[in-house]
Amino acid sequence: MEFTSLNKCPLCDSDKIGTFKKGTINTENISTDDFKITDSTYGSVWAFSKCSSCSFVFSNPRIDEKSLIEFYSELEDNEYTDEWEGREKNFRTIIKRLEKIEIPGKKLLDIGAASGIFVRLAAENGYSAEGIEPSTQLAREAGEKFGIKIFEGTIDDYSSSEQFSVVTLLDLIEHVNDPAEFMNKVSPLVKKGGVLVIVTPDIQSIPPKFLRNKWWHYRTAHVNFFSLRSLSFLLKRSGFTIEKKYRYAWNFSFYYVLTRLFPSLKKRKGLQKVLKRLNLKLQLFDSWEIYARKN
Ligand SMILES: [Zn+2]
Repeated sequence: MEFTSLNKCPLCDSDKIGTFKKGTINTENISTDDFKITDSTYGSVWAFSKCSSCSFVFSNPRIDEKSLIEFYSELEDNEYTDEWEGREKNFRTIIKRLEKIEIPGKKLLDIGAASGIFVRLAAENGYSAEGIEPSTQLAREAGEKFGIKIFEGTIDDYSSSEQFSVVTLLDLIEHVNDPAEFMNKVSPLVKKGGVLVIVTPDIQSIPPKFLRNKWWHYRTAHVNFFSLRSLSFLLKRSGFTIEKKYRYAWNFSFYYVLTRLFPSLKKRKGLQKVLKRLNLKLQLFDSWEIYARKN
């Protein structure tokens, strides 16, 4: 693992950067488990800098990309697919919203597809849908559980002869070590007039201000954070115009939420069955769901 200290904003190149947060992560000890989607150890934060020009918040020093990708490819997350019904509900909203805007065709690519929950839903709704996922376990599970083929790897390993009418980055961009460079690779995959969907935490929202390090989006896997301003900046420089924006609502089982708060409840097997059946929709106004059109 290598760490690089940045003296400029990796998004807009400005040198007007300052400390945003002191880190609590012991970089000697991080492992692949810290990158689980369902990681329940909150309050693990990187040392973050903030750019006063574009408002981008980024981990500084920054982990090298190779190590980060290795963590994801080795990742095993059984709890994630367990919670697929809640996740599917979140994603249904996205399918509905896509129906309401004009899209040039039905070819969809989901980057960071995990076990393919969204890809399957898109396919059921008439899309020719593909996914990319670096975790061997999650990509395999997509095939075993849902019968979907997910490309195992990252955007660097992937190539497509055709462009897509829709590309989705659902809870992904905050995990990527250099979002500007990443978007340079995503943009050519989207057709002119096509739509990019981004769901990501909003660092300018209220919850991180009063929950501080307890904010549920502060976790090892999140190496950078956006506000509407920095997200707009990123999209504009990558050739997109924001068309619609919403506050993303999360659907979880009661069990999932309770075990985030009280991890010891995981031992109470009897409770699990009941609590997993109860669904909860959380609107915390702390994530963005953005629909942007390729110029
Ligand atoms: Zn900046």
